[in-house]
Amino acid sequence: MTEVAAQLEELRERGLHRRLRLIEGPQGPRVLLDGREVLLLCSNDYLGLAADPRVREAAAEAALRWGAGAGASRLISGNMAPHRELEEALADFKGYERALLFGSGYLANTGTIAALAGPGEVVFSDSLNHASIIDGCRLARAETAIYRHNDVRHLESLLRGAAGRPALIVTDGVFSMDGDVAPLAELLELARRHGARLMVDEAHATGAVGPGGRGTVAAAGLSGEVDVVMGTLGKALGAYGAYVCASAETVDYLVNRARSFVFSTAPPPPVVGAARAALGVLEAEPERVDRLMTNAQALREALAAEGLSAGASTTQIVPIEIGDAEPTMALCERALERGVFAQGIRPPTVPEGSSRLRFTVMATHEPAELRRAAHEVAEAARAIGLLKAPTIAA
Ligand SMILES: *Cc1c(COP(=O)(O)O)cnc(C)c1O
Repeated sequence: MTEVAAQLEELRERGLHRRLRLIEGPQGPRVLLDGREVLLLCSNDYLGLAADPRVREAAAEAALRWGAGAGASRLISGNMAPHRELEEALADFKGYERALLFGSGYLANTGTIAALAGPGEVVFSDSLNHASIIDGCRLARAETAIYRHNDVRHLESLLRGAAGRPALIVTDGVFSMDGDVAPLAELLELARRHGARLMVDEAHATGAVGPGGRGTVAAAGLSGEVDVVMGTLGKALGAYGAYVCASAETVDYLVNRARSFVFSTAPPPPVVGAARAALGVLEAEPERVDRLMTNAQALREALAAEGLSAGASTTQIVPIEIGDAEPTMALCERALERGVFAQGIRPPTVPEGSSRLRFTVMATHEPAELRRAAHEVAEAARAIGLLKAPTIAA
């Protein structure tokens, strides 16, 4: 067997082999999956904007006016009015001097962290940060120190150990696999006390958390205070691409130094047009965010009523931890048979032994659909012995 085949076999044996499922049609609360209609509970299109007619039309109009592609990187000849307009709107929305577009959140994190943390510096990273932050740390020529999840005391002891070296603290705002929120006020206070900069990833927070969906930084009243705020256009904003908000000086630095910005083609006009329209819808209809939060609460309550705990989640990301990969995927398949699609999440996305079924809620779900989903998943869990039958009180 070749090395590749052997490695694939090993993944299969450990229950870690992944395959692609086919969605037929746009994102929505219900989708056709491999030919059958299922309740979709693992899309990040939290506000239903990916299929919103206004967003789709904006994409089409931008394609007709500006073309399908930008043709070059921003610094060569790919910088167009739609890019600038979206950056101004994002900076304004987030309460920052400037914003800079990247091709994706993955590119924004890797490029920004590698640019901001050079040799002799230290990046302090939460142990549950997203893979794109981890890869940014790997690319940075700085040292990386991992602090225990949301553990401000541990971070403080590590900061003391760094003895005044330039430092960057990086955290998810909403943690992507757990749905809990970082203690931003405490992190910023620590950063200030130790002369470090703070960077917050709002990939799952923008459009979902905080006033009008402005994110965890805005929710903590720290807009413009946290040094660098990153977010994606591919989740609640229903398009693709990402942005970094910071001071004009930091953004100027990133334009010159972030390699994933400098050496990659500018985001395509239809995508930029779509994201601009989606941001407009979000600003005009903040009730979508309220609806999302209410729905998330409804799902957590319905799961709890079935005996399933969503751990520390306080957001639209609602995981139920199972433990091993194999029973997690068995539960995922059983739930699918019952018409509920929530993805099983395994290592390396989550730490070994913490595989989970992870629900993500949308503003466009009906509360009754969420109750049904909780019930079907609990039935599936009981059918494979992961959950005991409810005991009937005497
Ligand atoms: C999804 C995600 C990213 C990557 O964003 P993309 O635009 O999908 O590349 C970065 N950070 C976190 C926390 C995410 O969940």
